[in-house]
Amino acid sequence: MDKNLKNIFLGSIITIFIASLFIVSIFSSSPIQESDEQIVVAATLMPQKEFIERVGKEKVNVVIMVPDGADPHTYEIEPSTMQEVSDAQLYFKLGSGMEFEINYMDRLNSINPHMKVVNSSREIDLIHFPDEIDTCSGAHDCQHHHGDVDAHVWTSPSNVKSMVEIIYEELVRADPENKEFYQDNKEEYLTELDKLDQKIREEVSNQENKQILVYHPSWGYFCKDYGLQQIAIEKDGKEPTPQNMANIIQQAKKEDIKVIFVSPQFPLENAKTIAQEIGAEVVLLDPLSPNYLENMEKVLEAFSNA
Ligand SMILES: [Zn+2]
Repeated sequence: MDKNLKNIFLGSIITIFIASLFIVSIFSSSPIQESDEQIVVAATLMPQKEFIERVGKEKVNVVIMVPDGADPHTYEIEPSTMQEVSDAQLYFKLGSGMEFEINYMDRLNSINPHMKVVNSSREIDLIHFPDEIDTCSGAHDCQHHHGDVDAHVWTSPSNVKSMVEIIYEELVRADPENKEFYQDNKEEYLTELDKLDQKIREEVSNQENKQILVYHPSWGYFCKDYGLQQIAIEKDGKEPTPQNMANIIQQAKKEDIKVIFVSPQFPLENAKTIAQEIGAEVVLLDPLSPNYLENMEKVLEAFSNA
């Protein structure tokens, strides 16, 4: 071959080689390919999104069934949302008797029979309600919820720590190669949860009034951990009767309660009536906020000013 021709030939081979390296590098860094590697993880409530994302970060794609602002006790799922579990490898259910899970878990599982359903509450001491509480009247222990168990496990940071450990274990099981990554993330989040827990302990122990008046009894686990008592306006998941209202007003006056906490998912009417009667303020607190740590700081501030 002619020397010139040989050079042209070599030159074009090198050019093609460099060009193909360039193309390969574009494709391997494309976000489409990265998202293919993500583990799709489903869960019930918005706060769980933070728990899972803090451990899995960019390696997980989290799908939440009950949207922000909806009430998980009564929410009716859209068929399109239900389909979102079809790609999920894992489902972290609360496992604490929340109505949404009682109503839909079987159907979600039938859409995706390969999805591993994990009970996030398996290490948590659930609060059980004795039957007699149904008939109590105005006493402190009237914390009855609609069901035998208090479903609101995530309102206690120490329960969340145990939920996060379970998320970590399952992500490692699904993706053992990245164990160290998940472990570092988990440790970092647990440290933040510990700080929050410590802060609540310090501030609540200085608090004089240990009674908190709430519309819907979301804060049972929080109260149990920090020595507070929750008085709920709602009884057995229903609007209170006039007799219940009268009992609560009497009790609130006696305990000198100045704040009524209402979650945005519930009606304000009865809370406002009671607030007027006892000269209290109505404060909105969301137990289902997607920003768990940030929201719990707000919760602490609200409770300690009550
Ligand atoms: Zn609730």
